[in-house]
Amino acid sequence: MDAERRKTREIKVGRITVGGDSPISVQSMTNTDTHDFEATYRQVSALMKAGCDIVRLTVPDIEAAGIFRYLKEREITVPLVADIHFNHKIAIASAEGGADKIRINPGNIGSREGVRDVVRACRERRIPIRIGVNSGSVSRAILEKYGGVNAEALVESALEHTAILEDLDFQDIAISVKASDPVKMIEANRILSKKVNYPLHLGVTEAGGSRRAIVKSSIGIGTLLAEGIGDTIRVSLTDDPLSEVSLGRDILSSLGLFGGTLMDVVSCPTCGRTEIDLISLVREFEARASVMGLDRKGVRVAIMGCVVNGPGEAREADIGIAGGKGEGLLFKKGKILRKVSEDKIVDELIREIQTM
Ligand code: SF4
Repeated sequence: MDAERRKTREIKVGRITVGGDSPISVQSMTNTDTHDFEATYRQVSALMKAGCDIVRLTVPDIEAAGIFRYLKEREITVPLVADIHFNHKIAIASAEGGADKIRINPGNIGSREGVRDVVRACRERRIPIRIGVNSGSVSRAILEKYGGVNAEALVESALEHTAILEDLDFQDIAISVKASDPVKMIEANRILSKKVNYPLHLGVTEAGGSRRAIVKSSIGIGTLLAEGIGDTIRVSLTDDPLSEVSLGRDILSSLGLFGGTLMDVVSCPTCGRTEIDLISLVREFEARASVMGLDRKGVRVAIMGCVVNGPGEAREADIGIAGGKGEGLLFKKGKILRKVSEDKIVDELIREIQTM
């Protein structure tokens, strides 16, 4: 990518650094009832195994704040964020219990003493605070000033909350300005990135069900990252939180920003020349590779439909197939290995990748 990454302060969220030159982290959020500690443990554990960098949990009351101690005592090492609305006592209980970051908007706490107590609890433990503004959380005064929620209104709201923390000499801050409209979210983050040097958490909120949400999130988050804006991301899907992790990593990987290794699949769109059932083959391959964890191997796989463009891509990839009539020519590291019948193509690709 040509765009230079915007320089920000760094914050520490447990073992993960956010901002500065640190890798862009991928977050997700649990959707279990936080009071059900065992179910929440299982989901956090699954997210951690899937490579999620930071996990956020909603904490609706003091009782639920007990989740942090419960998880930390059970070898959960992924950094945990307490998502809190309004109640500063829950924020303090979460910090005391072991949360690695608090997501709360100080302007919504109500009393200055309450804000001061939250800041003290976070400062003592070096826990950062994320200010999270979205279309639904902009104050009435700002709505009236801008005639509704636009990018400027989101930014002004975020800056109001930020000023409250800065007044208390607290700068261990991350900020998010989210909207369900990616254009608004992009514009808000562009403005905000010129006004503050705190790390920015990117996301298109309430993006919807999977296909639409994938497009909106990829455009919103991807556009900003390509401009060098953004330090941590969360893709919001009305789906299993594990899907948010894989999609977040795919966005980073597509921009060359993913620090680890991921499989890259190159496959053609099919046309009148295609003589194998390429669509089914690619679907089956991607599903099986994902279930087997092979999609976290850094190999480039080409699955091409014909002998016109197929051999070129297959030769360039680590492993590739150029389809023919009811069969495919298998390439590995630029060399032809053998012909494979169509019904064996996926098996053979997987077998070869396992040996790589
Ligand atoms: Fe068509 Fe071959 Fe191109 Fe695939 S690789 S789209 S089958 S010409």
